[in-house]
Amino acid sequence: MSDEVAVEAGTEREELEAELVGRREAALAKVVKFGDPVLNSRASPIAEVGPELRAEAERMIAIMRDAMGVGLAATQLGLLRRVLVFQAGPDCPPTALVNPAIEWLSEEALVAEEGCLSLPRVAMDVERPLHARIGALDLEGERLTIEASGLEARVLQHEIDHLDGVLILDRAPREQRRAALRALREGGSYAPPAPDVEPTTGGGEHHREPRADA
Ligand code: ZN
Repeated sequence: MSDEVAVEAGTEREELEAELVGRREAALAKVVKFGDPVLNSRASPIAEVGPELRAEAERMIAIMRDAMGVGLAATQLGLLRRVLVFQAGPDCPPTALVNPAIEWLSEEALVAEEGCLSLPRVAMDVERPLHARIGALDLEGERLTIEASGLEARVLQHEIDHLDGVLILDRAPREQRRAALRALREGGSYAPPAPDVEPTTGGGEHHREPRADA
């Protein structure tokens, strides 16, 4: 690659990155943030699945993608309706769930760091069941059941929490909650300390993956 072409490619990449950053900021501006009482409110079941709801779900998926999130609940757009969208990985199709309900959770649980699009610049450790079965309606009003594990199970539990007015602040260890609240009030940032590495025991319970906000 000649220097000239390399410079051009570099500029194109910078332009693309600037565009993505701009889109992310525009999407995040539409998300309700910490301090808005809607985030502590319980959303109402949806009585009718129709074109209006499908359009709303499309809008939610676009905002989730632009915000580079893995999930978004209607509550986070200020709408107290029981609908969520999620995409637990770039290769998974984005999916909308209407009136989602947890039908079963595994005894086995895992602590992992979670971020939230409604809680800018903070992350907390949250323990959640590793496997979950969720019942819901799709955008055609058909019943579906999702058997989820790992990140997908975590994202779905996080979003259903939003529909119940529950935030990761309510599920984090007390010290982390306190530090995160301080950061949110002062406009700072917070992330939990890295877990101790215990090679003799494997330390498998607490684990770090690239975090994705939801
Ligand atoms: Zn969230």
